[in-house]
Amino acid sequence: MKNKIIAGNWKMNKNQEQTIAFINDLKPLVKDTKNTVIICTPYLDLEQAVCLTAGTNIHVGAQNCHWAESGAFTGEVAPSMLKEIGVEYVIIGHSERRQYFGETNKTVNARTKAALEAGLKPIVCIGETLQERESGKMEEVLASQIKEGFEGIDEEQLRRTIVAYEPVWAIGTGVTATNKQANDAIAFCRKQFVELYGNDEAQKLYIQYGGSMNASNASGLLLQSEIDGGLIGGASLDAEKFATVVNAHKN
Ligand code: PEP
Repeated sequence: MKNKIIAGNWKMNKNQEQTIAFINDLKPLVKDTKNTVIICTPYLDLEQAVCLTAGTNIHVGAQNCHWAESGAFTGEVAPSMLKEIGVEYVIIGHSERRQYFGETNKTVNARTKAALEAGLKPIVCIGETLQERESGKMEEVLASQIKEGFEGIDEEQLRRTIVAYEPVWAIGTGVTATNKQANDAIAFCRKQFVELYGNDEAQKLYIQYGGSMNASNASGLLLQSEIDGGLIGGASLDAEKFATVVNAHKN
């Protein structure tokens, strides 16, 4: 089994002072893990986070980036700007961005390509709504999110990409997918990557689960054969709880 990649998505939470306190608390708690630890902070906390985590095993990610290198895109941030300040990862296509900011598979694809071209490692989010799951459309939705979201992305780029399967009904709701639901959905996603990139690449690809993963349910989820890590929202805001998730799986 692979070591896991555990990423915290802070969303629009924590100012600079809270960022400093969080990182100082987290450092000793995760220093011995073999899992990869990532914190995805608001843009304004990124530079601070990069400085404070230098020389540690904590990596820093943003929560979005634009697809253009520069230009008339008021309020947006280019991937190269993130790269320049030492950011390594970037979440793309989170369901909140799809829901509130008009993100589509096409824009997810454009942002992912731009992030890769700038040398960032994208964490590409996919997942079905409750209505899609209940009406039997889950597989169709996931398949098109993968096919359209990864169009034109080559094997080398895939190796620098993480996928997060996040059923929308489980995000921020306290309703976690069961271990089996999460494992089965990720197995289905992996099958799509087998078709697009072949078995070797698909097996190497990291596919995380996200959706109300926390200190109590993380070890069960991370024991599943298809689940290569977690994207954690609410439970990533408290250093001790987040560290418990990070340390929940040991190979
Ligand atoms: C998320 O925002 O990606 C997420 C999984 O949130 P939560 O853990 O709070 O459900």
